[in-house]
Amino acid sequence: MSTQSTAASITNTAAFDAAQAVIPGGVDSPVRAFGSVGGTPRFMTRADGPYLYDVEGNRYVDLVCSWGPMLLGHQHPDVVAAVHEAVDAGLSFGTSTLAETALAELITQRVPVERVRFVSTGTEATMTALRLARGVTGRNLIVKFAGCYHGHSDGLLAAAGSGVATQALPGSAGVTAAAASETIVVDYNSPEQLEQVFAEHGENIAAVITEAVPCNMGVVEPAAGFNAFLREITRRHGSLLIWDEVLTGFRASDAGGWGLTGREEGWTPDVWCFGKVIGGGMPTAGLGGSAEIMNHLAPLGPVYQAGTLSGNPVAMAAGHATLARADASVYERVQTASDALRTGLVEALETAGVDHSIQRAGTLFSVAFGTSERGVRNYADAQAQETFRYAPFFQSLLSSGVYLPPSVFEAWFVSAAHDDAAIEHVLEALPAAARAAAAA
Ligand code: PMP
Repeated sequence: MSTQSTAASITNTAAFDAAQAVIPGGVDSPVRAFGSVGGTPRFMTRADGPYLYDVEGNRYVDLVCSWGPMLLGHQHPDVVAAVHEAVDAGLSFGTSTLAETALAELITQRVPVERVRFVSTGTEATMTALRLARGVTGRNLIVKFAGCYHGHSDGLLAAAGSGVATQALPGSAGVTAAAASETIVVDYNSPEQLEQVFAEHGENIAAVITEAVPCNMGVVEPAAGFNAFLREITRRHGSLLIWDEVLTGFRASDAGGWGLTGREEGWTPDVWCFGKVIGGGMPTAGLGGSAEIMNHLAPLGPVYQAGTLSGNPVAMAAGHATLARADASVYERVQTASDALRTGLVEALETAGVDHSIQRAGTLFSVAFGTSERGVRNYADAQAQETFRYAPFFQSLLSSGVYLPPSVFEAWFVSAAHDDAAIEHVLEALPAAARAAAAA
């Protein structure tokens, strides 16, 4: 049983029934549903440090971290103080604020971008990035990788990861053939396919969009030199490289996924997409790049983009406090906690005799069952894994007070607040979960 910490008010089952009566599927984002793991989604009421608390008072070590943003853990005092101060000054002005400049400055100090435009969601960031790339190049086609997820705008849902992968959907109803026809999908880690696509369509390709490290089909590591190749082939053909760091940004490392490849190799993408950590748990995302490219956006240029709540002052305050606090010690702690979990996971799975492989991206990692021989280089590999082992594994951990992503196609997230006690709690729960996976 999970640790009881506060008095029960309503059961998760009753909360889910009530939600389903007014919200499709009872959830506002499909990845929150327990569709692939079974059982009742947990309704959380509170979070603190590395822990989540549900309506029944059960406590969980949180390995989702709001799908990434909570790099410092829940309710970090710096973030809470900054948000309180911002709230006391007014929720939204619909004007420019100093807070936007301050957060944009922090971002430009961390990664090589000169201008940042804030939006409210990662979906908007990538959608705007595509429009910008088309506006800059005057070309139509976008190349994306199967299994990468870039939000839910029409042109990016083809062969998408995350919830689309969990539900094994090819794409989405409601996306027109015209929208889909402007997206070319290729396998990740395949320079050959890219060469072929560019040979055929090079003059019409506005951009290649990639996750800095794919994390939405589980984590898939870029083969050595693959990202540098993306940089080279896009440049060779006059296309832009759109670098989606919504999930990995300022989380996979201090400089995100780029910090694991481009920084060392000495190249930069053209358009960056940010989200999650830059909002510290509030709805903020953004796109960035050189002044030359970004100045194509309105009001300076002809590519239109706007948002009523873009750069919202409360969200800016949360993001700024998070990034300002995220120094080397934070990344060290997140890495240490992540390494301890990964090591414990491997030990537990090996002891239970569960074939698996682990993919990692700095502080992020995920497990794929039944893949040790072939490895996971692309979406087809990820889909070929023994997904049926995940539900019992997940349920065993859940009943021991550990909240994992309710899908095998997601990364595990830890925070700097995951102290030894929280990690130890997970390590103690892993052997039983591994045995449950073995028995599946
Ligand atoms: N890009 C990536 C890489 C993501 O992981 C996500 C969300 N998980 C998005 C874009 C979309 O962000 P949002 O959910 O804020 O729209």
